[in-house]
Amino acid sequence: CSKPQFTVKSVLVTGSNRGIGLGLVKRFLELPNPPEWIFATTRELAGCQSKDVSESPVMSIDVTDPNSIKAAAKRVEAHLQGHGLNLLINNAGMLRVTTMENENVETMAIVYLTNTVGPLLMSQEFLPLLKKAAQQSTQTGLSCSKAAILNMSSIAASIEVVPLWELRKTPSYRCSKAALNMITRCLSLEYKDCGILCTSIHPGWVKTRMGTEAALQTVEETTQAILKIISTLSEKENGSFMGWDGKIYPW
Ligand code: NDP
Repeated sequence: CSKPQFTVKSVLVTGSNRGIGLGLVKRFLELPNPPEWIFATTRELAGCQSKDVSESPVMSIDVTDPNSIKAAAKRVEAHLQGHGLNLLINNAGMLRVTTMENENVETMAIVYLTNTVGPLLMSQEFLPLLKKAAQQSTQTGLSCSKAAILNMSSIAASIEVVPLWELRKTPSYRCSKAALNMITRCLSLEYKDCGILCTSIHPGWVKTRMGTEAALQTVEETTQAILKIISTLSEKENGSFMGWDGKIYPW
């Protein structure tokens, strides 16, 4: 039997003014059958780098600000004119270069708020639109063409691997992404019966402001690979932690 076609009608990417988020928006625009609605988002609308994606609506979302998330959800709903939102990519994130000695209340709190609470608030606020997309879909099972939340996580969060410990400690970042992985698991359990898939993705080590120039992969390579993964995700990967290379990663 033939596989269901990969066609995402609408997608929203947080933190898409630069880095991996911007790359993802560009890859969606390049698809032979691009989504009808690609919502690129940025914290600051003024002077953002999203000029090259100006065909798609650019909205402001600060994932640490519930009011900005609420306002964006209203604007997205208006754009969609009765359609649901197929795919929410919680990509926005931050890293503070910290050690076990200098980590403190401020760094723990802001990194957790951005990397963990932000994706949770986004998922809650966009849930009605995601549910609507699932209801409107004729596809069986779970897929990103139907309705999905992808959380941009990091292998740095893996309690089993704890990679590059000698090089970088960053406890706030590791903890925030480990907690994000738990959010992924909780969302996947809660919403699978509504037809919504949820998966954590490790994008690899990528040349961005966060990843630095020393990173191994370009934004283009990573985002091409992630688009491929997005096109194949099914209930098998619901609630799991996947790498850009298509492998399941240890929690
Ligand atoms: P960048 O630092 O290049 O970009 C981060 C993006 O997140 C920017 O658009 C930034 O916006 C946005 N952002 C930060 N805080 C907020 C906020 N409060 N509200 C809205 N947007 C915000 O990072 P990457 O592109 O490398 O990272 C993207 C994701 O991938 C992150 O979640 C990161 O943790 C993850 N990741 C990256 C790796 C890498 O090697 N690069 C490795 C593993 C995971 P602004 O321009 O306003 O600051």
